[in-house]
Amino acid sequence: MSGGIASWCTRCKEILGHTIVALKDEEPKKVKCNTCNGNHNYREKGPEPKAARTPRKPKQTKYETLMSQLEDDYDFSRVKKYNMGGNYKADQMINHASFGIGFILLIINRNKIDILFKDGLKRLVQNL
Ligand SMILES: [Zn+2]
Repeated sequence: MSGGIASWCTRCKEILGHTIVALKDEEPKKVKCNTCNGNHNYREKGPEPKAARTPRKPKQTKYETLMSQLEDDYDFSRVKKYNMGGNYKADQMINHASFGIGFILLIINRNKIDILFKDGLKRLVQNL
């Protein structure tokens, strides 16, 4: 029997008894899992919990949510171009020369519109 060692098994995802298969610089290099017979590099510990390693995925913004609700082949060329003289409705999409595609969330007093752009909410005018 060659030396047994406790190692993280990449397949069983547990610290388990392993048999040393190869040494490097007096340290275990490759081990074989006594449970699943898998060969893999020796790891003293399992991977750190994901939360500690990678920052949590930021929540999808409302803009991204709205965008993801469009059909995959949505034709943005049919989105109306924004201009101050236009007359828009809530839930419409518009195409602004600088801000890009926006979703009209709210009409205020007929001549102001709240539009959600990629950069955030902007209040623009209409019916001028
Ligand atoms: Zn295993």
